[in-house]
Amino acid sequence: MRVGHGYDVHAFGEGDSVVLGGVQIACERGLIAHSDGDVVLHALCDALLGAAGLGDIGRHFPDTDPDLSGADSRTLLRAVVAQVDDAGWVVGNVDLTVIAQTPRLSEQVGEMRERIAADLRVTVGSVNVKATTTEKLGFVGREEGIASHAVVLLTNEGASA
Ligand SMILES: [Zn+2]
Repeated sequence: MRVGHGYDVHAFGEGDSVVLGGVQIACERGLIAHSDGDVVLHALCDALLGAAGLGDIGRHFPDTDPDLSGADSRTLLRAVVAQVDDAGWVVGNVDLTVIAQTPRLSEQVGEMRERIAADLRVTVGSVNVKATTTEKLGFVGREEGIASHAVVLLTNEGASA
């Protein structure tokens, strides 16, 4: 078994929606990013790569790559899953924490879990998503951005390799 952790932050900027966990959510602002700014999936990609010993998302998908401008982070996630798979690892479970003062996310958590489970090719029960605020403290509390943590367990049981 292997464990991995990921963390990502994006700042709020112009826009009228954010994409979190593969789900577009109406918001008074957007997130500034080279890609779609999905902090949840970026943290998850880093956790997967970390657990597999494959580096980090910036190495695989540099933010200077014009092809990744506005990229759907689900595409990045599926590419990471393919690399983890090639390395002989299978996703056991993932536990994700989104830290946002705004927007409210409780209603979108179920859809995030379904989309992430589909991309990871695991059951929805293996994907946990928690949304929390920071009680108005710090940069998240001041509504300057959104942060996300991810913890992943990989196993080599059942791997085809
Ligand atoms: Zn990011």
